Amino acid sequence: MKKLKFKNGDQLDAIGLGTWKSEKGEVTQAVKTALNNGYKHIDCAAVYDNEAEVGEAFEEVFGEGEIKREDIWITSKLWNNAHKKEDVIPALKKTLKDLKLDYLDLYLIHWPVAFKPEVGFPEKAEDYLSLEEAPLIETWNEMLKAKEQGLVKHIGVSNFSIPKLKELMKDTDHAPEMNQVELHPYLQQNELLEFCSKNGINVTAYSPLGSGDRPDQMKAENEPSLLEIPTITKIAKKHGATPGQILIKWSEQRGTAVIPKSTNEGRIKENLASAGYQLDEEDMKAIADLDKHFRFVTGKFFETEGNSYDNIYDD
Ligand code: NDP
Repeated sequence: MKKLKFKNGDQLDAIGLGTWKSEKGEVTQAVKTALNNGYKHIDCAAVYDNEAEVGEAFEEVFGEGEIKREDIWITSKLWNNAHKKEDVIPALKKTLKDLKLDYLDLYLIHWPVAFKPEVGFPEKAEDYLSLEEAPLIETWNEMLKAKEQGLVKHIGVSNFSIPKLKELMKDTDHAPEMNQVELHPYLQQNELLEFCSKNGINVTAYSPLGSGDRPDQMKAENEPSLLEIPTITKIAKKHGATPGQILIKWSEQRGTAVIPKSTNEGRIKENLASAGYQLDEEDMKAIADLDKHFRFVTGKFFETEGNSYDNIYDD
């Protein structure tokens, strides 16, 4: 499997396990299955409301002693209601407590959007903090402090467009080490990938399979299914792989990390096994032609009339 490299020499296995929407009653087993079958990369977030259950898996697996904490890469994310500088490190400490860890490998600012501390999910314009009230650079400087304190090894962002990255980078000497964004054949993000590559920022692809288990209110009408795109099913057939494996392999082969979510034992194993395939030039060209700038996670749920976030992705 490909590895992503960091400036200090650390390396990240490209294929990891996503945990958004993984039910509390299922996620402990899913993470144990993943770790016991060779995954070395787990993606978490405070807002997934299952970090305590993910932590039970870490406690059990690391406690058994065969798999060591230092060989596994664990990412989590700062939720949007903890952007104020006094809230960042306490939020991180809560995540560490839930995950039953001493440190994270990577901590990300989940969205370039800030809510008031008491708001879990906003409903009206007053629930938000403007970028003037919670400047991203102040949040970022706290992330840097967390790194200095050894609470996290690497820091980065998520859902940041090129303008948002530039905005942050003009005020700091410490560029994000990772940008986690939606990425799949219908949203290939070539410009963003090029910008990140030039600036030494690694990229992680989220929703690589089209996020079919999102809540209905987050779905558009007649949403396409990535797993049923004829080009993908044809390439899958040619390699004796599943469509999911082709989607995952495509991301890995392009040099990004990729974090498919599953709580199903067979699919957890199947997704990691994607690394064993190789797409040829013809496959890569056929998939490159599929791009249509289609987002599953539109960010529209943050666009409440009157708040400061009416164009999250700067599209
Ligand atoms: P994915 O694109 O990973 O799709 C998950 C869905 O695909 C589930 O229904 C899962 O079902 C199914 N599935 C898993 N493997 C296969 C397979 N091989 N073949 C067919 N179906 C399959 O969606 P997510 O949106 O969950 O994205 C992945 C991860 O990325 C998240 O879990 C989260 O960790 C991260 N993420 C980050 C975001 C951010 O803002 N930073 C936003 C969105 C996601 P089943 O479980 O039954 O296998």
